[in-house]
Amino acid sequence: MRILIAEDDVVLRMILKMAVEKFGHECLVAEDGFSAWDIYQNSLIHVIISDRAMPGMDGLELCRRVRERNQSPYTYFIFLTAMSEKEQMHDGIQAGADDYLTKPFDVDDLRTRLLVAARITALHQQLTQQKTELERLNQELFEQGRRDPLTSLGNRLRLMEDLLVLAGQAERYGRHYAALMCDVDFFKAYNDHYGHLAGDEVLREVSQTISRSCRSGDAAYRFGGEEFLIIVPDQIPSSALVAAERIRRAVEALGLPHVAKSPPGVLTLSIGVALLHPQDYHATHLWIRRADEALYRAKQGGRNCVIQIEVEK
Ligand code: GH3
Ligand code: MG
Ligand code: MG
Ligand code: MG
Repeated sequence: MRILIAEDDVVLRMILKMAVEKFGHECLVAEDGFSAWDIYQNSLIHVIISDRAMPGMDGLELCRRVRERNQSPYTYFIFLTAMSEKEQMHDGIQAGADDYLTKPFDVDDLRTRLLVAARITALHQQLTQQKTELERLNQELFEQGRRDPLTSLGNRLRLMEDLLVLAGQAERYGRHYAALMCDVDFFKAYNDHYGHLAGDEVLREVSQTISRSCRSGDAAYRFGGEEFLIIVPDQIPSSALVAAERIRRAVEALGLPHVAKSPPGVLTLSIGVALLHPQDYHATHLWIRRADEALYRAKQGGRNCVIQIEVEK
């Protein structure tokens, strides 16, 4: 352990330092409370052995400051003092000390108490590590719960959460958003012909292509089986159409053969586009439904195309 000794008596300070080093610990020394506080703030200290009566800042104040700062790793605080009244011991422990030794100083006592200090600081370190690991796992689970395992796009839960934030921003800052509802054309036939594993691979390729075609600030989600929803911010009707058309062309350009549709060709997407309007701010599902309606019209219109719905005034 690294141990800091705060003691204004030069002889005792030297005796303590020699003892602590003999027990196998690293030792730093301070001649008063202020310099101990300085050292403590700038180095990693496992244990402080402190006198109480010192010029400037006394040991009680040093102890309170150490506890208030609550720095990691935990610092085990031992008073070593001539103030041996029960009331004084009570004050010392109440100020945050872990142990209280009285002068005259007994080297064997100190050795024994340092065993406890090592045990407690190790326990604190273990707890800190476990807490960090738990926080990391928690974050990982949080992410996992919001990601579609096949495509790694956001899932419905992430979409629901994002829609709440988005509606707030649209209302507060007057931002305009477009929803692009995409659906793979004749995908059942694709699965039937090439098999579901090949179908899965296509969904991965399509989702990667969608992600690549998105600009920063756009967000893509797997909405359902072979349906993807893309939310594009800061859109006017014409720019939303351009964004959707860019994505439709990118998927077509992959040139993934699809011989099971008639006529045979390559795999394509149909896309329905709807803009978020003020009346949707508290009912974003109506907005998504309009994008879905637009998608159905794209399907009826022959597929591999983009259709935008305008809201009726
Ligand atoms: P349309 O052009 O009208 O959209 O026709 P479609 O065949 O694409 O649409 P339909 O809704 O009839 O079929 C969707 C298919 O998507 C059926 C289902 O098996 C497939 N599908 C959904 N999720 C997955 C998946 O995770 N993996 C694979 N391989 N197929 C999936
Ligand atoms: Mg003193
Ligand atoms: Mg579908
Ligand atoms: Mg489909």
